[in-house]
Amino acid sequence: MISMTGVSKIYPGKQKPLVAVDNVNLKIDAGEIYGIVGYSGAGKSTLVRMLNGLEKPSDGQIEINQQIINNLTRKQLRGARQKMGMIFQYFNLLWSRTVLANVTFPLEIAGVPKQQREVRARELLQTVGLENRQYAYPSELSGGQKQRVAIARALANQPQILLADEATSGLDPQTTDEVLDLLLKINRKLKLTIVVITHEMHVIRKICDRVAVMDSGKIVETGSVFDIFRHP
Ligand code: ADP
Ligand code: ADP
Repeated sequence: MISMTGVSKIYPGKQKPLVAVDNVNLKIDAGEIYGIVGYSGAGKSTLVRMLNGLEKPSDGQIEINQQIINNLTRKQLRGARQKMGMIFQYFNLLWSRTVLANVTFPLEIAGVPKQQREVRARELLQTVGLENRQYAYPSELSGGQKQRVAIARALANQPQILLADEATSGLDPQTTDEVLDLLLKINRKLKLTIVVITHEMHVIRKICDRVAVMDSGKIVETGSVFDIFRHP
């Protein structure tokens, strides 16, 4: 589903070049929840930006669904990105639009007719348990509800992959658990591959099948969550 081979990202830096991602090899299977964990500065965000095509690797190859995404044109990249949903720490909702309009937004961009996109958006809001808040504005919602809107929006174009970048880092523990339960449910129901980027170990423990530990741009350990957390 996702494979990275010898992927590096080097930024120019002030004095000397900065190696943000250093020769990463990674394989993520279809349908699994894969965690990428590491402290701040480890290179996780840079890795994500390369996965979703926002940045090109300095070296190596990234393959998603049998398509090598390193050197796609802007147009091809836009197509590839529509098959990838994203959720973020600060939700990135459109604040002037209702919940429903936030979820229909990616469908509008994809050219889906109005009636169809509203039907689809309502289904998604039902999946995330927000069908009765469709005419609310994001500012009227709790943090957990905002993230559920973001999840519904991320699923609108039926992506095969969901990238969750510190998606629960701004939420309290109980809300975090609710959002993680929802991600688990979606993973099972839609057989969706989920990549979870986080610095929070309990997030990994709760929902991930496998995990890669990043430090200073390198992957220093990979394995099942059971293996990684077996030793204290
Ligand atoms: P994480 O997401 O794990 O906190 P990042 O990928 O944000 O790590 O950062 C990895 C390293 O790359 C850090 O040293 C950071 O300062 C550097 N870095 C990230 N983005 C850029 C950029 N656009 N330009 C220069 N350096 C960057
Ligand atoms: P970009 O410049 O990244 O293409 P857009 O203007 O297309 O951004 O995005 C508008 C809004 O949609 C933003 O709030 C952004 O976070 C969100 N968004 C973009 N791509 C996705 C996606 N694949 N899944 C969910 N939301 C997205």
